[in-house]
Amino acid sequence: MYVCGATVQAAPHVGHIRSGVAFDVLARWLTRQGYQVTLVRNVTDIDDKIISKGVTENRPWFAVAAHYEREFQNAYSVLGCTPPTVEPRATGHITHMVELMSRLIECGHAYAVDGDVYFDVRSFAEYGQLSGQKIDDLLPAGDSAGESRKKDARDFALWKSAKPGEPSWPTPWGHGRPGWHIECSAMAQAYLGDVFDIHGGGLDLVFPHHENEVAQSKAAGQEFAKFWLHNAWVTTSGEKMSKSLGNSLLVSEVVKRVRPVELRWYLASAHYRSNLEFSDAALGESAVAYQRIENFVIRAHEFVGHSDYEHNIPDAFAQAMNEDVNVPAALAVVHETVTQGNTLLQNNAADSEVHAVYNQVRSMLDVLGVDPLASPWADGTNSQEKTVEILDALVQDKIAERAAAKLAKDFAKADAIRDRLRDLGVTLEDSVDSVRWNVEK
Ligand SMILES: [Zn+2]
Repeated sequence: MYVCGATVQAAPHVGHIRSGVAFDVLARWLTRQGYQVTLVRNVTDIDDKIISKGVTENRPWFAVAAHYEREFQNAYSVLGCTPPTVEPRATGHITHMVELMSRLIECGHAYAVDGDVYFDVRSFAEYGQLSGQKIDDLLPAGDSAGESRKKDARDFALWKSAKPGEPSWPTPWGHGRPGWHIECSAMAQAYLGDVFDIHGGGLDLVFPHHENEVAQSKAAGQEFAKFWLHNAWVTTSGEKMSKSLGNSLLVSEVVKRVRPVELRWYLASAHYRSNLEFSDAALGESAVAYQRIENFVIRAHEFVGHSDYEHNIPDAFAQAMNEDVNVPAALAVVHETVTQGNTLLQNNAADSEVHAVYNQVRSMLDVLGVDPLASPWADGTNSQEKTVEILDALVQDKIAERAAAKLAKDFAKADAIRDRLRDLGVTLEDSVDSVRWNVEK
């Protein structure tokens, strides 16, 4: 699988990260089905916006790219996305791009003018097929400064000649930097070869990005992707979510309002091809729905008495997932199975019956990446913070008990409390008006 990753020029909001979650669910499902999944998700680390942000922030362009790449990686990992097999950066694959452009020029699909290289869209008969458009209906590409150098206004830039003060790399046609589309064609070929199964990305990438990827790769003689999957947008008031909405929808902010696993559940719950209309109310309702599932897993776990489970996917869930990753239908199976499990628990059913349902629910949650007893949720910082809070309350109770004993001049009891805590590794430090506690290192 090749999935178009982020252009790392701003912090990720929930709209950006939906694609990461959707394709993570697909990769998990394919893996569960026995496929060996190689997932390539690129990082676009050179781009007009990255360069101009470097200028406004007064730091090198690569510092901007590295900074936001880390923010994206954090967001993916906070939401429990399995890291891709490889995450190539565009700037690390310039030689592959030069090779591809040379081939395209050789076979008459591209041409160089004054240091720019353009793809000749009229030379490729299939141009427009992926997005279902006719070439004559298309607007000018408008993606380079050298519009007048093109043979046709719809030709798009593979390579842009260097401008003073901007980063550039040497090529046979002069110094410059890549156009966005050539990056993905070159990286897909470098890691997946001439033909691979699935190409994914956001719906907004169908045209021109993916149309242009197809043109470049097929014109160079590759078969390229067999299937295309495009995830829809996260919308607010019906509009595609955008940066102008401010910080409240940054992943780092939303996970302060709900737990990360609840945000993941919410983002995964819609069909990947449907828009997801974001609101805090819908997010809250979705979190409650997840908690119901989570509560069952925790209660069933207590009932069966251990964390092991056998993978057992109900047929209806498998059918839904195989039907173009129909997660809403798959979730209906999860809800039904949990209802069934809750009834069994209420009626104090036989261990084997509860265990069977417990196996099914955890297997399904594993595919969706939201099993509350699996990593990263089982050992999340939330539960660690909660544990520290509880520990503090319990130790404070003991400290109060000791103070009361001292006041009653029952020094034997006060010492016994201190000794007991010390045996457990908790030391008390008395000062004039308070007692502090520490865990021995
Ligand atoms: Zn791409």
